[in-house]
Amino acid sequence: MRRVVLVAVLALAATACSATGKPVDLAVVNSVERPQPVGVEVNPPTTTGAATQVPPCDPAASLRPGALPAPGAMPDGTTMRTIQDRGRLIAGVDQNTFLFGFRNPTSNALEGFDIDRVKEIAAAIFGDPNKVQYKVITSAARINALKNGEVDIVVRTMTATCARWVDINFSAIYYVAGQRLLVDKSSQITGVDQLGGQRVCATKGSTSLNKLRDSPAPPVVVAVDNWSDCLLMLQQGQVAGVSTDDTILAGMVAQDPTVRMVGPRFTEEPYGIGIPKQSEDMVRFVNGVLAKSISGGSWAESYGRWLAQAGEQSPPPTAKYRD
Ligand code: GLU
Repeated sequence: MRRVVLVAVLALAATACSATGKPVDLAVVNSVERPQPVGVEVNPPTTTGAATQVPPCDPAASLRPGALPAPGAMPDGTTMRTIQDRGRLIAGVDQNTFLFGFRNPTSNALEGFDIDRVKEIAAAIFGDPNKVQYKVITSAARINALKNGEVDIVVRTMTATCARWVDINFSAIYYVAGQRLLVDKSSQITGVDQLGGQRVCATKGSTSLNKLRDSPAPPVVVAVDNWSDCLLMLQQGQVAGVSTDDTILAGMVAQDPTVRMVGPRFTEEPYGIGIPKQSEDMVRFVNGVLAKSISGGSWAESYGRWLAQAGEQSPPPTAKYRD
């Protein structure tokens, strides 16, 4: 009996093999849409990140640091003490932005210039750079993650703006980027002024998206969740360009030899570490850590590791304080 079944199975297999490549039902396929990343929106409504009127401000001016307490000895009653007692710093970061916050595919660890800043802050609180719980968040989720107390800090290529200062605090500026344009090497486009009516990608909740919308030659803005979605759409020919900070675009150029940045910087994007509005002690503490990082050479070391070879040229920013 078993032999009969085996023979039947072999016979079936032989028929299957001989019937090669002849579809029974021919479907007429005129065009096949390439799949798009999840959450794509075309020309979404404006979001400034602020619930109320935006008062004028100097977005780069933060709070003056006090003396840094010794690691592991955060004073009672401070935000830093709460973090120390919890045993880990909770940091909102990116895992999709090469050079700033990305997942190393070999080690699975998060790495980059922003991740180095997180580690410095953890080291200053605990004496251990690894006492961190990373929460990966999108550009659009940064403000709410801080407002809802889901994270202690956000270190995620985040521009300090007056609109965002309404909802959160920022540290002193730790890097100054600028918005530029990325296109395929074969593209004829050489600048943002030629984008009128063309599809250009940016993330939801980013300053980059708002700037594109306000452009004198407004493109069709294709909004996504992650910067890596923009690179994918450019590679698939679904957008004519990607526009955001040159730092983020430099990471894409380093990953894909078929794309290039064109045109000059057309904005200034001073990066600050986002901190909840009520935690002014934490702002002063983080500013102390940043000042030490810049004066002690670890900022320069981190810059050399991630950004210098990528062609990014920015000296450490001079800290500005408003009190
Ligand atoms: N720096 C810009 C911003 O904070 C763009 C970068 C990003 O969204 O990650 O909105």
